[in-house]
Amino acid sequence: MVSYKELGLVNTKEMFAKAIKGGYAIPAFNFNNMEQLQAIIKAAAETKSPVILQVSKGARNYANQTLLQYMAQGAVEYAKELGWEKPQICLHLDHGDSFETCKSCVDFGFSSVMIDGSHLPYEENIALTKKVVEYAHAHDVTVEAELGVLAGVEDEVSAAESHYTKPEEVVDFATRTGCDSLAISIGTSHGAYKFTREQCTVDPQTGKLVPPPLAFDILDAIMEQLPGFPIVLHGSSSVPQEYVDIINQYGGKLPDAVGIPEEQLRKASESAVCKINIDSDSRLAFTAAVRKVFATNPGEFDPRKYCGPARDLMTELYKHKIINVLGSNGKAE
Ligand SMILES: [Zn+2]
Repeated sequence: MVSYKELGLVNTKEMFAKAIKGGYAIPAFNFNNMEQLQAIIKAAAETKSPVILQVSKGARNYANQTLLQYMAQGAVEYAKELGWEKPQICLHLDHGDSFETCKSCVDFGFSSVMIDGSHLPYEENIALTKKVVEYAHAHDVTVEAELGVLAGVEDEVSAAESHYTKPEEVVDFATRTGCDSLAISIGTSHGAYKFTREQCTVDPQTGKLVPPPLAFDILDAIMEQLPGFPIVLHGSSSVPQEYVDIINQYGGKLPDAVGIPEEQLRKASESAVCKINIDSDSRLAFTAAVRKVFATNPGEFDPRKYCGPARDLMTELYKHKIINVLGSNGKAE
């Protein structure tokens, strides 16, 4: 048993309270390898932004849970080395699927966990979430829960269609579970293919697909029911066209990849939305950089020569998100 406090990590309580008051959102970036982690910490340290390191079940299987725990501990020390005196770094389980997984993360030094019972019937979601909250809170670990179903595919999480969160359920759910934050469904979606062609309109100027807007009316209704309660958006990558273009230019094949426009995420950040999950965009940046090196320098076989540029491009992406989309820069001086 290791407490996150021994690792120098923080839970989300204070982060979220400040973010709601200040009208910005905390970036939640997924990681499963060293380069991604370096890029996240460098971007957060350089912009002095609080940050949530997210680990999915897939990442735990890929990278090994013990190693991830020590990587997060290393990240805190690395941040200090970069001149960030009081790093505010949270280690969060993304889409925990059972009480046992959440418990094991709490015991392994995570400072926050998500229990995703959104696929369950309402009462079962409440019972499971409540059980996780009781264990986590006994260790001062914060809990994110989910109501409503997102479309799209992210690691093992998939749902064919989305069901928007019902605003009339949120008070009952938050009160009975005691969760610290709530992931809602208002039209964001997992993965790099968030919408089908049929769901989009086509921009006559560019011929590019324009996704349907987020359901801000539902977000408003939820905020009215739960004033000041931390709201979380999953599936909030924007799928930058520049990365898709580089990937396709150098032999990739990502037709019609569509994400959430950044203006909409910026608008959401100013509301009670205080955590925005971004994963696919960094995968795209990584892949774009690696493909470019492979295509332009086929003789290269030193992984540092293609993972290095990938790391640089991800750092740039994370800083852009922090400064221009979430507004969390300078909030963890
Ligand atoms: Zn998610």
